[in-house]
This record gives sequence, structure tokens and C-alpha cells, in this order.
Amino acid sequence: MINLDRNDLVDWLEHVKIYANNGKVVDYIPALANQQPETNAVAFYPLGKENDVIHAGQADYYFTIQSISKVIALALALIQQGEQAVFSRVDKEPTSDPFYSVAKLEVEKPAKPFNPMINAGALAVTNMIRGRNSTDMVEEILTLIRLMANDESITFDHEVAQSEYETAFLNRALCYFMKQHGVITGSIEELLDVYTKQCAIQMNVKQLARIGAVFANDGKDPDTNEEIIPDQVARICKTFMVTCGMYNESGTFAINVGIPAKSGVSGAIMGVIKESGGIAVFGPALNDKGNSVVGIRFLEKLAEEKHWSIF
Ligand code: GLU
Repeated sequence: MINLDRNDLVDWLEHVKIYANNGKVVDYIPALANQQPETNAVAFYPLGKENDVIHAGQADYYFTIQSISKVIALALALIQQGEQAVFSRVDKEPTSDPFYSVAKLEVEKPAKPFNPMINAGALAVTNMIRGRNSTDMVEEILTLIRLMANDESITFDHEVAQSEYETAFLNRALCYFMKQHGVITGSIEELLDVYTKQCAIQMNVKQLARIGAVFANDGKDPDTNEEIIPDQVARICKTFMVTCGMYNESGTFAINVGIPAKSGVSGAIMGVIKESGGIAVFGPALNDKGNSVVGIRFLEKLAEEKHWSIF
């Protein structure tokens, strides 16, 4: 059980915020290019309803979760289709390639992506979500996210979704390749519509920390203990967070921080602290692997102080 209080968060965020100068805000999604590098926020959502969420920085600031949505889409696909169906189309292995890479699709078993955390794998997973059309599929993802964050108002940012949809040339290329090999089926434009909207789902660090807390509680609501996702599904998601959640920096992160975590190119990181709660950090300046520099430094600092590595 980790004990964190608000002063810890305030002090450590203050300590690491300078690192924003070492990073760069993402610009391949045009609508994200105007994020301010000095924005930062952190929240910790503890397990047990007697404890309140604590936070520091701009904790009401809304950002899009980008790749963090891949974990929730995976949980949903596993719930709806089962392990066997999901892993017949996407593998379980980490890769040292960047998340957008197309290179390995050619060498793997006919176009089967390495894992659900890289874009190819995430697109294959989203393709498996149930729904008559893209609106239904986005609604399915939103329903699960709203339940985990305990907030019915959560939705996606239309401008960011549209901006990514219009410029998602690499993701289109991945889709065409996978469609040729039967890894994905149906309309590619419809799939990209769902995928770009799931990546554009917006929230603040307090809501994101609550989603982390559901994973920390093995899939159960952190306040009521009611099951939201089966514990086996939560376990699979957390394992992917450890092996592939921080892009091709996951090994270094496992050594330096040692918790399941998932980052997104908007600059958000969601972390899972076993039996304690969920943590979320936001800072849009990224390092060359696509991870928030302030987020990584903050979590390293916390790991150093609280000895929370699971290893
Ligand atoms: N929407 C982004 C993409 O597909 C997500 C990438 C990320 O956050 O890693 O490129």
C-alpha cells in the first residue's frame, strides 16, 4: 500500500516541471500542435471510498488520451470477443519499433501486428469492437470509459478527431496492408473514424487516474468494488502496459519506475499502482520516443521516493 499526500504531488511536480524544456509538443496531428508545453498536472485516485482523489497542477485541464485509449479498446474487445478471437489477429510480443512503424508487418505471420499497443495492433483491436456502424462502436468505447472514470459527460474532441482523421496517412497504410492479409475486415474509413475518435476522447488527470484505479483494483470500481471488467482482462491489459505501454521505452521505464503504465502522444500517462490506486500525469512536451518528459521524470521521482516498483 503506497501512501501519497497532496504535498508530495505538489513538491515533485514543481521539482520536475523544468524538464518540459527538454521536450517537444507533437505536431503530426495538427490540432495537437498548439498544446502549451508548460501545462502540467497530476492526480492520484486511491482505492477505497473513504479516500479522496488528490491532485496538483492544472488538474481540470482537458486533454485527449490518444494511445491510452488502446488499453480500454483492448479490454472491450476481450470482453466482447474473448481471448482466442482477439489474439488470433494480434500478437502478444513487445517490439523495439516506434508505435507507428509499418516495417514488422511484412515479416510477422501474415501481417499480424506484434501487440495491441502499437498502432497496427490497436487498429486491429478496434476493428473487433461490436457495433452496426462507427457511431455504435465509438459509443461502446465511451460507455466503458465513462463507467471506469465514473463520469457520464466524457466524450471526444471533434476538432482533434477530425484533424487526425484528415492526416492519418500512415494509419491508413497500416490498415490497407492488414486488410489485404485479412487481419482487418470492413470499411477502412469507418475504422479510422472510430480509431481517431477513440484517440480524441477527452478528460482531465483526475478522471484518468480513476481509470488507472480500476486496473489497480483488478477491474473493479475503486469506490464500490463492483466489477467493471473481469480480472483476467484487467491482468492482460496491465501486462501489456508493462511490456509495451511506454512505446519503445517500456524496458527503461520498467527498470526506472516499475509500474504498469500507458502513455499517449498528447503528453498523458496513466499508471497503475497495485492495491493502492491509479495515477495520471500530463505534460505535452515529449521525448524522442513519444513519452511526456515531465510525466516520466515525475514517475521516476515518485518511484525513487516510494519504492513502488512491482519487480
Ligand atoms: N492517435 C495517435 C496515432 O494513431 C495515437 C498515438 C499515440 O498516442 O501513441 O498516431
